[in-house]
Amino acid sequence: MADTASRPRLRDSVIVQADGGTLLFLCLADRTVKRFACDEFVKDVVVLLDGTRTIAEIGALACGGRPDAWERVAEVVQILEREGLLSRVAAPEREFRLLGTARAEFYDRQLRLFQDFCDQGWSPETSGAALQRRLADATAVVCGVGGLGGWVALALAGAGVGRIRLCDFDRVEVSNLTRQVLFGMADLGVPKADAAAARLREVNPFIEVEAVARRIGGAGDLADVVKGADIVINAADLPTPNDVAGWVSEACWPDIPHIMGTGYAYHIGVLGTSIIPGRTACWACVRAETFADHGRDGMETVVGKRDKAGAMGALSGLVGNILAWEAVRILAGLPPALGDRWGEVDFWPLEIRSRTIPQRPDCPTCGLPPNP
Ligand SMILES: [Zn+2]
Repeated sequence: MADTASRPRLRDSVIVQADGGTLLFLCLADRTVKRFACDEFVKDVVVLLDGTRTIAEIGALACGGRPDAWERVAEVVQILEREGLLSRVAAPEREFRLLGTARAEFYDRQLRLFQDFCDQGWSPETSGAALQRRLADATAVVCGVGGLGGWVALALAGAGVGRIRLCDFDRVEVSNLTRQVLFGMADLGVPKADAAAARLREVNPFIEVEAVARRIGGAGDLADVVKGADIVINAADLPTPNDVAGWVSEACWPDIPHIMGTGYAYHIGVLGTSIIPGRTACWACVRAETFADHGRDGMETVVGKRDKAGAMGALSGLVGNILAWEAVRILAGLPPALGDRWGEVDFWPLEIRSRTIPQRPDCPTCGLPPNP
């Protein structure tokens, strides 16, 4: 039986429509539809589920009130709760304001999204404000702030990741500006890490941004860069995306979750993989799985990849933002989408293809210890 002192509230993402004796609950967050038979009393109750009234108060109001009405209200509430149509907090905006008025206002729409994640049951937290706090307490490192990492960093800054460290050795060139969202003409010649950090500080005054202008030539160059990070996103591509990804993974292993953005070229973008030590397949498993395609692991390269692949901002931005979304999920304690999974988006047919990356039992890096 629902707690009569509780103040039930429909999820904000749910709209309700009536068709005679049927109520249709349409969830705008995932497009699910649920139908229930109803009478005028139930219709009245549903309208009153706004988090301001107790079950007893709703019973007194619905259809003019009846002595046993609260019991029927409790029954309706119990069904809606079981169907996941109620919010887990009665007054979300009051919870949001606990972050401070300025932050509550800044993050308003995102907090409402986070609240729906909580209401959906995707987080052990009940309030969207708790997910925002997790982001504020987190440190993210973005390796490479070019066509991919610039978008990642911008999205993480907007989302409110508390400390963002940017690592890049390059300087802004004119050919970057079509797709590297953090830079303008005034930044030409400026170290990318510095220009990007300045832009991110403009975007969100509530976060700290640190720039590290450094060329990465091995995992050892990253030891202090990734130190203390809650997540590292690889978006660097020199000397090759796979080389840098290997170094990033080595520097992060076995403590730090990392997302392997390994690039975009022409109309293909690579999504993930997310590597969460102890939980998912590792980079060696990814390489073993993907590099064996077409028997390539046994072949000699005759004509290799060109230095400058075709690219444009609309496409690199989509890939970068998907990686940022994955990073936000991990930092907020939500389930990742790209663990044990290699995804590729092909922008021409606009399709995402993905394959499972099995965790190899005999993997020297992540393999499970043999049974005693
Ligand atoms: Zn492995």
